[in-house]
Amino acid sequence: MTAQQMSSFASHDTGTLYLVPTPIGNLDDMTFRAVKTLKTVDLIAAEDTRNTQKLLNHFEIETKQISFHEHNTQARIPELLARLEQGESIAQVSDAGMPSISDPGKELVKAAIEAGIPVVPLPGANAALTALIASGIEPQPFMFYGFLPRKASEQKAALTALAEEPQAVIFYESPYRVAKTLTTIRDIFGERQAVLARELTKKFEEFIRGSLSELIDYASAGARGEFVIIVAPGEKKAKAPSDVPVATQVQTRIDAGARPNDAIKAVAKENGLKRQQVYNAFHGIQEES
Ligand code: SAM
Repeated sequence: MTAQQMSSFASHDTGTLYLVPTPIGNLDDMTFRAVKTLKTVDLIAAEDTRNTQKLLNHFEIETKQISFHEHNTQARIPELLARLEQGESIAQVSDAGMPSISDPGKELVKAAIEAGIPVVPLPGANAALTALIASGIEPQPFMFYGFLPRKASEQKAALTALAEEPQAVIFYESPYRVAKTLTTIRDIFGERQAVLARELTKKFEEFIRGSLSELIDYASAGARGEFVIIVAPGEKKAKAPSDVPVATQVQTRIDAGARPNDAIKAVAKENGLKRQQVYNAFHGIQEES
C-alpha cells in the first residue's frame, strides 16, 4: 500500500470529494449515481452555479452550491479543504462532462490528495471519448490534447511537437475557430484523415469524416455547434534518409514555431539519430571521433 493510499484510509472523519460528470447535451446521460451523489453531499462546487441550477432543478436536487471556476480556484481551495476536513462531503461539477477535462477541477483534486482527503471519481459523459468511439479512427493509442493554445506561435509549436505522434490526436475547439485550427493542423501535419464530431448527444449530432482539406471546406461554410476534432495518425512511410541536412530540418521546424529542443527531438526521431548528434550538427559542434 502506498503512503497516499494509507493517508486516504486514515482520514475516516474527513468528508469526501466526489468528482461528478454532467451531461454534454442530453440530460438522459446523467447517471443514477451522479444524481444520488449530488443529492446526498453537503455542498456542490460548480463552475457556473446558474447553469448547474438548471440541472439540479431538473433532477429535484436541493443541495446548496458554491462557485468554483478558473478565476477563483486558488481563493476557494482553502475554504473547500477546510469544509472537507471538518467532515463535509463536496461534489465538484463543471458546466458539462468530466470535471478537470478542459474544465476546472485539477487543482482541487491535487490539494485534496495532499491533504489526505478521499477523492472519488464518478464515470460519465465526456466529449472526447464519446467522439472517439464512433469516429472510425483507430482508437488506440490516442492522445487527448484538448484546446490548443490560442496564440499562433504557441499553437504552431504545440502542433509541431504533435506532428510525429504515431497516434490519433483529439482536440477541442470552438465553432468560431474550427476552420482556422483545421487549416493550421493541415499546414503542420500534412494531409490526413480526420473527423469532426459535432453536437454530440444532441438532436443534430453529426460526424463529418474525411481528409483535413474536406473538413476545412465543411467548416469554412459556417460551422455551428460544439466540435471535437480527431486527427488520424500520419501514414508510416518507409523513410529514405533525407537529403536535407539535419541542421536545416531543425531550423525549418523552429521557423514553423517549434521550440529548439522540440525541433531537435523530432528531427532526431525522424532520422534515427541520437538527440546529441542533432544538437551538435545544429550548433556546428564537431563530434569527437
Ligand atoms: N469537460 C468536458 C468533457 O469532459 O468533455 C469538456 C469541456 S470543454 C470546456 C468544452 C469543449 O468540449 C467544447 O468546446 C467542445 O470542443 C467539446 N464538447 C463539449 N460538448 C460537446 C458536444 N456535445 N459535442 C461536441 N463537442 C463537445
